[in-house]
Amino acid sequence: MARDLVLAQGTLIDGTGGEAVTGDLLVRDGLIAAMGSFELPAEAENIDCHGLIVAPGFIDLHSHSDLHVLEGRREKLLQGVTTEVVGNCGFSAFPCGHHREELRSFANGILCGGSTWGWNSARSYLQASTQADLPVLAESLAGHGSMRVAVAGMVQGPLAPAQLEQLIATLDEALADGAVGFSTGLMYAPGSGAPREELLALCKVVARRNKIHCTHMRNYGFHLLEAIDEQLRLAEESGCRLQISHLQAVGKANRTLNARALERVEAARQRGIDVAFDCYPYIAGSTVMTQLLPQPALAGGIEALLARLADPDLRANLAAQAVRSIANGWDELLVSAVASAKNARCVGMSLQAIGLERGVDPMEAVFQLIEEERGKVNILEFNQSEENLRVNLAHPLSCIISDGFYVQGRPHPRLHGTFPSFLRRSLDDPQWLPLPAAIHKITGKPAERMGLRKKGLLRVGYTADIAVFDPMQVAGPASYEEPEQSPVGIREVIRAGVRRFGAHNQAMPSGSVRLQ
Ligand SMILES: [Zn+2]
Repeated sequence: MARDLVLAQGTLIDGTGGEAVTGDLLVRDGLIAAMGSFELPAEAENIDCHGLIVAPGFIDLHSHSDLHVLEGRREKLLQGVTTEVVGNCGFSAFPCGHHREELRSFANGILCGGSTWGWNSARSYLQASTQADLPVLAESLAGHGSMRVAVAGMVQGPLAPAQLEQLIATLDEALADGAVGFSTGLMYAPGSGAPREELLALCKVVARRNKIHCTHMRNYGFHLLEAIDEQLRLAEESGCRLQISHLQAVGKANRTLNARALERVEAARQRGIDVAFDCYPYIAGSTVMTQLLPQPALAGGIEALLARLADPDLRANLAAQAVRSIANGWDELLVSAVASAKNARCVGMSLQAIGLERGVDPMEAVFQLIEEERGKVNILEFNQSEENLRVNLAHPLSCIISDGFYVQGRPHPRLHGTFPSFLRRSLDDPQWLPLPAAIHKITGKPAERMGLRKKGLLRVGYTADIAVFDPMQVAGPASYEEPEQSPVGIREVIRAGVRRFGAHNQAMPSGSVRLQ
């Protein structure tokens, strides 16, 4: 049996939003066994937490580490994260059904995967993603896009009745198997083409299982408010709980929509809809380049898209449609990853600059890159204002997420910096957001939203997932230019009672546990 662990004389912030207290915390058999003042066990391993904040391990309610968490990657652990919720925006690593290859080509732009992955069910994926020896554990949502591909391939529009039945049964089974909820990605084909009746039927399954629907909505730019209304109506009619993913108003012309979006969410809550939202602490987002196109152009997959682009009339038509719907300026959209060595120099350049260099307009540059890279291009999008971001981060209904994903290029800094940089914001400006409230948004609140039992709080009997950090030092220096910088000031991360990261492994790369 593992030795007892005592976190001694730390500043305990318990994840409820309540005030800090100074005291000891005892970890025994993977659980929090005592808190405050108690008689210290003789044989315990002691970690001096004097001057440090002791908080519940952070919960990243929205990430795309579905595949990387299984490799034991440590980017999140180093930030204090002990649990990630994956399977977001319609992309989960299961089920593959009869369309294993199509699932991979649908999801690889977001999951940054190779050519071998794919699980048949939520149960088999979760068995892998919750193993005791992984640094960080992943819970998963069942992704609408993935399930749709498993049932019908990359087709758009209504499913045949038997396929719809199968889709409903697939979701029901995934939720019964332990998926924490259902995710949609209504800006991504093929989910974007699903009719309303399909979404309503699926949300009813979510309601019956008392789980949550997390949605990457249909629009965050010119039609943000209509997109919110669509989701609120679905929640109201189905009775399911709703989490609006990465809420923001995209594009300079749409900045005033942010306040109106929040008003709608608040009003819905007042009339009894269980809705909340999340946001990452950066003004830029990140996604796949094909998201700039009208999604029906992706019906049938990338080959079908390339064939459409080869037709000059269709190409002109798609360009006109895309230009109307893109809310960012071309100088606000940057290439972050490509597949080929030839275009590697585009990484970090704006579409404006790439267009100028190629002597074509930026939309044509988008088409050319998609053709040359066969769709495998990621982008960084400077979306929103710092003022709106601060309002959303501090809003009582928000959780803070990384939305991080891996790319073969330059990742968004949120992959390495989200949680420590968010804590730094709070510590530097407690009037804006006091530290206990900030910690609540990355611990107790996400646990409650996702229905994670015995997690997210420092409470006797809860899982001993704990992050310890130095409030003087904590920061996430990862930047857009240099995104792969590790956090500073995170001193100790314990998951399920086991020390996963701390001064002990910094000093000893072998990873063996010893006191400093
Ligand atoms: Zn998303």
